[in-house]
Amino acid sequence: MSEQQFDVVVIGGGPAGYPAAIRAAQLGLSVACVDDWKNSDGTRQFGGTCLNVGCIPSKALLESSELYHRAETEFGTHGIEIGGLTLDLAAMQGRKQRIVKQLTTGIEALFESAGVTAIKARGRLLGDRRVEVTSDDGSQQVLGAEHVVLATGSTPIELPVMPFDGQRIVDSADALEFSEVPGRLGVIGAGVIGLELGSVWRRLGAEVVLLEALDTFLPIVDEQVARDALKQFKRQGFDIRLGARVTGADVDGEIVTVSYDAAGAAQQVEVDKLIVCVGRRPVTDGLLAPEASVELDDQGFIAVDQSCRTSAPKVWAVGDVVRGPMLAHKGTEEGVMAAELIAGHAAEVNYSTIPSVIYTAPEIAWVGKTEAEVKASGRAYNVGTFPFGANGRAKALQQVAGMVKLIADREYDEILGMHIVGPMAGELIAEAVLAMEFSASAEDLQRTIHAHPTLTEAVHEAALSVDKRAIHALNR
Ligand code: FAD
Repeated sequence: MSEQQFDVVVIGGGPAGYPAAIRAAQLGLSVACVDDWKNSDGTRQFGGTCLNVGCIPSKALLESSELYHRAETEFGTHGIEIGGLTLDLAAMQGRKQRIVKQLTTGIEALFESAGVTAIKARGRLLGDRRVEVTSDDGSQQVLGAEHVVLATGSTPIELPVMPFDGQRIVDSADALEFSEVPGRLGVIGAGVIGLELGSVWRRLGAEVVLLEALDTFLPIVDEQVARDALKQFKRQGFDIRLGARVTGADVDGEIVTVSYDAAGAAQQVEVDKLIVCVGRRPVTDGLLAPEASVELDDQGFIAVDQSCRTSAPKVWAVGDVVRGPMLAHKGTEEGVMAAELIAGHAAEVNYSTIPSVIYTAPEIAWVGKTEAEVKASGRAYNVGTFPFGANGRAKALQQVAGMVKLIADREYDEILGMHIVGPMAGELIAEAVLAMEFSASAEDLQRTIHAHPTLTEAVHEAALSVDKRAIHALNR
């Protein structure tokens, strides 16, 4: 067995691992990135969940399906009449696939230009930071590393009462691959992924029923924003059943009968396809030899400190495989931080300013604390809100649902959180992230000039509204 030596070996080439590898190489270190992602056709690609079956393909389909839906329901209001609108799902899927391919092959090009050694194989951490690499043909090599970064990500949780069959009962990856629009679609879990995938197929014509075990809709989101969003989703025809605890699913030919308990009674719903999106679990199976001495926490994540150091010296872990929100950009920041710390630089991740986005229509985005969290902390605060219905650009876009909500400390005016439901919320939230990163006050946003007419004026007006001085809304 040959043994090659690197400064850094990264296991996992998703959005946490590949930026760690590139940054470490930029800082002059010799780096290898080992990744075992395999597509359904057997080909291997870097990019992990995010590029292959997550953020990117889901957003490609969300965009296409939204355009179709708007052409069908909204173009008439603009005076555009389309006769005989048709859907070519194969072409839509083809576009998505091309985007995925461009981005995933792009990573290999980035590796090449940064000087990262790309290895498409399975990695396993042995003792003394030695990494055993097993290729598809079974051949093995061992890489020696001064530092190892574990970035093996996460995988969908399977419910024992309704195991995935890849056809009728599917996970989020298979739900991006349907070759026909299901007539009736069931989604288990009304979380971020369930809502996004449900939106894609709803817009293309499916009747969608979402079964959510919790009694509260989107409990991670600010309550006022979640209430507003729920109203919009119901208006779009989503059948959202809260407090519905699934007990089983039977496949009979082309029909899946889902059984669940709600309001103390056993109930059933029949669907053609069932997507189970009840969360994701960290991937550590077969990753760690006992002599690697890397500890897991009580939920199976690799245990790390604030700087992503594991229990083993010079072994780091980043991304979905460690605690914190399962978000691509959170993993990227951790991967880059680990690379910089390895290279002897100072670095940290500001976990309090990680934005979250749900790419539904309207989009939902937030950063910082919800009003309930601020209230629970006992801190005195002011709230400013502004509806998109009073924003000129939103009117021009014909997207007037939703609002911007800003929470600021009553004494110091520091921005504690921003919550948006509405058009382009995922883009607008960047202003609040930047403001919070610089410890800006609501007044700083008030004094910042926003171009007219833009959606960003709604952010500006929400900041003004904190001091009851919004111009285009009643200051109650
Ligand atoms: P992953 O992306 O899972 O990558 C881990 C990589 O490690 C994989 O390639 C895996 O094959 C490889 N690996 C695992 N074990 C080994 C091993 N032993 N040896 C070698 N390689 C190994 N997040 C957002 O921020 N925004 C979004 O809009 C968004 N949308 C999403 C939509 C969907 C449908 C899904 C499923 C997820 C979405 N996410 C989104 C979440 C995001 O995809 C993850 O947070 C992100 O991919 C995590 O990055 P990671 O690098 O930690 O892990």
